[in-house]
Parts: sequence; structure tokens; C-alpha cells
Amino acid sequence: MMTTEAATDTIIDLPLNYFAYIQNELGVSLNKIQKQAVTQTEGAVLLLASPGSGKTTTLLMRIGYLVRELGVHPSRIKAVTFSRASANEMKERFSRYFPGQHAQVQFSTIHSLCFEIVREHYRGEPDSFQIIEGSMDQAGVRSASPDQPPLYKQAILRHIYKSINGEPLTDDQMEELTTYISYVKNKMLSEDQWGAVKVSVAQAERVLREYERFKRTSHSCLLVDYDDMLTLANDLLDRHPALLSAYQERYDYLLTDESQDTSLVQHELISKLVKRHGNLFVVADDDQSIYSWRGAEPEYLLHFRDYYPSAEVLFMEQNYRSVPVIVNTADRFIRRNKQRYDKKMYTENEDEGTIHIHTAADSRAQAAYLVEELRSLDSDQLASSAILYRNNASSIAMVHALDQAAIPFYIKDMDNRFFSHWVVEDILNFMRMTFTDKRADLLHKIHLKMNGYISKQQMAELLSIDNQESVFDNLLRHVPLKDYQIKPLEAVRDTLREMKGMPPLPAIRVIRERLGYDKGLDKLCEWQGHRKDNLNEILGTLEEIAGTQESMEAFAARLKELEAALKTSKRHRQDQQLLTLSTFHSAKGLEFERVYMIDLMDGMIPSSEDIKAYSSGDESRMEEAVRLFYVGMTRAKQQLELISCRERGGEKTGESRFVSHVRSLLQPEQAASSAEGSVNSPAIRPGDSIKHRSFGTGEVTGVNGDLVDIRFAQELRTLSLRVCLEMGLLEVLSTE
Ligand code: ATP
Ligand code: MG
Repeated sequence: MMTTEAATDTIIDLPLNYFAYIQNELGVSLNKIQKQAVTQTEGAVLLLASPGSGKTTTLLMRIGYLVRELGVHPSRIKAVTFSRASANEMKERFSRYFPGQHAQVQFSTIHSLCFEIVREHYRGEPDSFQIIEGSMDQAGVRSASPDQPPLYKQAILRHIYKSINGEPLTDDQMEELTTYISYVKNKMLSEDQWGAVKVSVAQAERVLREYERFKRTSHSCLLVDYDDMLTLANDLLDRHPALLSAYQERYDYLLTDESQDTSLVQHELISKLVKRHGNLFVVADDDQSIYSWRGAEPEYLLHFRDYYPSAEVLFMEQNYRSVPVIVNTADRFIRRNKQRYDKKMYTENEDEGTIHIHTAADSRAQAAYLVEELRSLDSDQLASSAILYRNNASSIAMVHALDQAAIPFYIKDMDNRFFSHWVVEDILNFMRMTFTDKRADLLHKIHLKMNGYISKQQMAELLSIDNQESVFDNLLRHVPLKDYQIKPLEAVRDTLREMKGMPPLPAIRVIRERLGYDKGLDKLCEWQGHRKDNLNEILGTLEEIAGTQESMEAFAARLKELEAALKTSKRHRQDQQLLTLSTFHSAKGLEFERVYMIDLMDGMIPSSEDIKAYSSGDESRMEEAVRLFYVGMTRAKQQLELISCRERGGEKTGESRFVSHVRSLLQPEQAASSAEGSVNSPAIRPGDSIKHRSFGTGEVTGVNGDLVDIRFAQELRTLSLRVCLEMGLLEVLSTE
């Protein structure tokens, strides 16, 4: 039965005590649907609702109700979510509402639930399986024999990839390969379907097949990665009725938050666990589904009744979190997606607060702008503010600026990969060469990425010379070189010597240009499939940090300092008075008074890959990028700032089409009147041919308010019609 907010009055027999209690003591006054969701404890309930409508609140109040009112023992309740961070947040929020009673309610991730099941099955056989993910320092990571990789997921994959393709796997490829594997596992694809999944890593399917074999056969016990944990648990429950019934008996109530990110294998698992009693409470918002690249299956929600025929499906559209301008703009923004369940988010909150759009010259200016804004906040305000970005890499420049300005922050999901990235190492090695050019080991690390074309053979000869002389002099005197190598190598030697004592920013520029590092990277990208965008971004960040340091030593020390600052900031807890830094992904479910979304450029969000897929007719990635942006926007209660840069890593960048869209939503009258009102402005429709002064001829593929999508020969662009017309950039050639 579908129920709307208006029709519930009569259905619920209100347990007044409980609701009065939570209203008086906890200050939470639930609406009718929320109350229904709390009290309808038996059977399956799906609560499908907009951001900020109180889904998580309702879920927690329902647990409180089960425990306080119905006397359910907390250990009989299992609340599941999909990341460790949200599980912890749920637990914390619950214990704030119901202190003392939280201890035994289990809030866990689906992975830890699966781990529990697997461990239970293998109890008494401690050496039957081994986890190959997590920290590399763990015991048990040693290789079984000298010709085998360490028993660690990434090492195993690298080993297999190299043995199949004959060349090493790059970090970008690793990321794609592991995503591919997660996707395959989460979708429960059978082996004959593996080949149908799009992936650009060479021989990915074969690598996966070998990887699966390796895990099963290479070692005395079964090797298990995090994805296997899900499939293995699911499998064990299928094959072992005693295990299944033990788990079915263990919990009387299951609840899942953020269920739009549940994958097929996870759905299957949950449905097995609730089979006995059917008491399942599922909370979700399909517009916030941001993990489909990893195999999440939000479509499942729309077919919920196929799995649970007598399920109650409840909807909520009132947003309690944000001010009207944010709610209304986000609601209109998400409508650009076609693949969605239509809803209308609204709010009755007070009309105050703002959305502000800011364009900075580059990311240094962006950081300076933010530092200026944040300086004016007191510590309470700081603690309710967040800086959000798509890629972790965006945080480095911010952390540098915040740390310099002594603004305390907490960083949600940092991986320290930036500091150990080979590009950072390369730049430091070039710098080390300016102090001494006598170390062949340093040259060995960078020789393929600079002018001079030193061959493998020549490098080997050089490495065998041990005379404490300059490596360049040794090359020129003792190693047979081709004529064309001599000049460039002399030039490299002289340039490195000139660089001694140079401040770090000009030094990096010299490395990139005169020493040929940029060209070297181009070649490497071609050979090894790195993404130049990523590398440029790292270089851009390094340049920003370098720009604030006097010497190369200070620069190197600053990097060390930042790495340490990041490590400590990760340990800081949220409830200290700190600013939060987070990716959009990890901010899901959270809320802040002030949200600053940064690095909002086309190419970042949507990413270059999203845009490429979109131009070739695949809209799903673009729609996911829209949802990700929407998740970011809907974190803000009062104030939302959208910030982009005109330049990144030395390359010109354009504002994200999503920002342009928001701008047009914020100024509808202006945009509409100048687009439609001016004398010679044509009405533009999909199918029209147009000519643009800079981009040439193209075809209109979509019109969204003032924004027009146009397919040009090279690419697809979203342009503001108003701007194009005002500047006389656009001419309509023929209309449909
Ligand atoms: P998201 O989709 O972002 O996870 P959500 O639907 O889980 O959001 P909550 O985080 O539960 O939303 O609630 C958003 C905010 O609205 C919280 O500050 C919460 O306290 C408040 N809220 C929830 N329900 C009500 C209500 N009935 N009356 C007033 N405020 C409410
Ligand atoms: Mg929530």
C-alpha cells in the first residue's frame, strides 16, 4: 500500500508516550509519516525520501521505540550501513538520543556483518582463510614462496597483470581494475558475463580469472578480499542451513540506511537474514545513489514489492535541513536527470541563507579566499562548516593553506597517496640532483623522464661506476653515447648546476620545461595509460606549496610536515571544534551550517571520463556525477558556496556545467528575459543547427532553462544561451 502524508492520520494508533517523550526530552517532533515508520515495526517497510527529510532520524527513533516501548533487547537489533564512517555516525547519533541504551544495539557495516558470518562458519579452523586487504604492515602478508607476490590484494594483482601483459600496472589502472573487480562481485556476475563489463585495463578479464584462481589455490588457506567477504558470506548462508538459521535467529529486526548504495549481493544477503520474520526497515533516496560504478543497484528499490510483496512503501518530501533557496535549487537541479523516481522536495524552513558562486583565479586563490572566509568564523561556526570536493587530491592545497593560517580541521577520508606518488618523488629527486649530481641511483629513478634519452644499457653501465664523480661527467667520459645524446645531457648537467639554491617554484618550472619532465610525462602517459589530468593536478598542487617556500630544502620539509599534519588531522575527532574536510562521497548523510564545494570545474565534476562517456551517448556516468553534486549541495543547512578555478595545474579550466546550471536557476528571470526577450534571440530547440564563433558548427541536443547542450565536432558543451547571445557568439543555422 502506498501512503502519502495526508492519508496517515487514521492509520496509526499513536503511542503518545513515546512521541511525547522524544519531543520533550530529545526535541524531536516527528511528522506523521515518520511516526508511522517508527511504529510499523513488523514486516517490511521501505522509506524512500529526499535528502534532509529525516530518514536517518526516523531509523534511530524506530530503534529507540523498539527498545524503550516494545522492550526489544538491543542485541536483537541490527542496523546496517555501507561505510565504516556512517556506521560510526549512526551509533554516535543514537547514543546522543538514547544514552545508555546504545551499547548493545549493533550498528555495523555490511562488510563487518559478512566478516562475522564467515568467521562464525570457520570457527575452530583458524587457518582456513586469510584477508588480503587492509594495512600492508599486517602480519601474514609475506609471500608463500620467493616467486610469489606478498599475500596482499594489490601485490597479487600487480604480479598477475605483469605476467600477462609483460609490463607493470600503473596506479590509475590499479584503481580501474579493482573497481572492475568490485563491480563484478557486487553484481554477482557469472564468469561468462565478466567479458561484457566495460573496462579499459588490458586483459582485465583474464587478470580477474587468474586472481580468483590464485586466491583459491596458491596458498594453504583461502585468500579473501573485501568483495569476497560479501560473496563468500552469501554463499556460506546458501550452502549451510545451520549457519543460516543461526543468523536468522540472531536478530529480530534489521534496518538499513543509505540503501540506495546496496548492491545485489548485499540485497540477497539481507533478504536471507530476514526471511524468518520479515522485519526489515529500508531507508533510501535514489537521487543520492553514488556508488553504481562499484555495483550498487538502486533500481532494486523501485522493485521492492517484488521481493517483499506486502511491504509498506512510504515517501517523504519535506526537507527539515536546509533553507528554501538550497532546497528549491537542489530540487530543480536534480531534475536534469532522467533516470529517477520523480519527487518534489520542499521545505517550510525560514527563508534565510544563501547560495553563493565564486570563481577563483587558481587553486591558490581559491584556498586564500576560503581561508579569509573561515577566519571570520568563531569555533562553533567552524565546527559546523565543511569543505567538500570530489577528489582527495583537492584537499592537499587546502590543508597547506589551512595549516599555515592555523585553522584547525578534521579530514574525513584522507589517504596519504599524494605524498608517496611517484610524481612527487620525481620532483624531489630532481631537486636532490641539484645538491649533488654524483648519485647514479637518483638519476636512475628519473632518467626516462628527462631530456637525453639514456638507454637501459647505458644506465646499467653508469650504475656500475663507483668513483664519486658527477654522473653526467661519468656518462660523457666513460659510457658510450650516441652523438645526439651529448648536447642534451650536457645541458641537463649545466641546468641542474645552475639550479642550485633556486627557490622551489621556479625550480619546478625548470624541471618541467627545460629538463623535459613534462614531455617525459606525456610519453609515459602514452605508454602506460596514466591520466595526464591527474599528473597535472599533482604538479599544480606541488607548485602551490612551492610558491610559499623560500628554498628547496624548506619545500621538502614542508611536504613532510603536511604529510604529518594530515595523519594527525585524520585522528582528530569530529566532536572537537574543527572544520571538516571531506569528499562528496564521504559527506553523504551529514549536514553542516556552511558548505564550501571546491574545485568545481568541468573535468573535475563532471570528470573528463564522465564527459567523454556522455559525448559518446552514455548518460549514466553523467547522471551519477549530477547525483554526487546534489549530495554535496544538500549537505548545507544555511549557506552553500560553489567555488571553481579558472586554472588548474597550469592549464585553463572552465566552470563546471553544474555550476552554470545552478547559476541559471538562481537568476531565472534574468536568464529567461535576456534569453527570450531580446529582439534577435531565437528560441532554440533540440535538433537545431547552430554556429558558435569559437567552437564552430554544432547541433543542439538539449535545452535546460538558459543552458543549451550542443554537440560540436570535437565535444559536447553546455553553454549559457544568454551569454552566447549577449556576446554575439551564436548564430542559428537551421531549426528543426
Ligand atoms: P540524508 O538523505 O542527507 O541522509 P536524512 O533524510 O537522513 O538526510 P536526517 O539527517 O535524518 O535526514 O535529518 C535531517 C535534519 O532534519 C536533521 O537535522 C534532523 O534533526 C531534522 N529533522 C528530521 N525530522 C524532523 C522533524 N520531523 N522535525 C524537525 N526536524 C527534523
Ligand atoms: Mg540520512
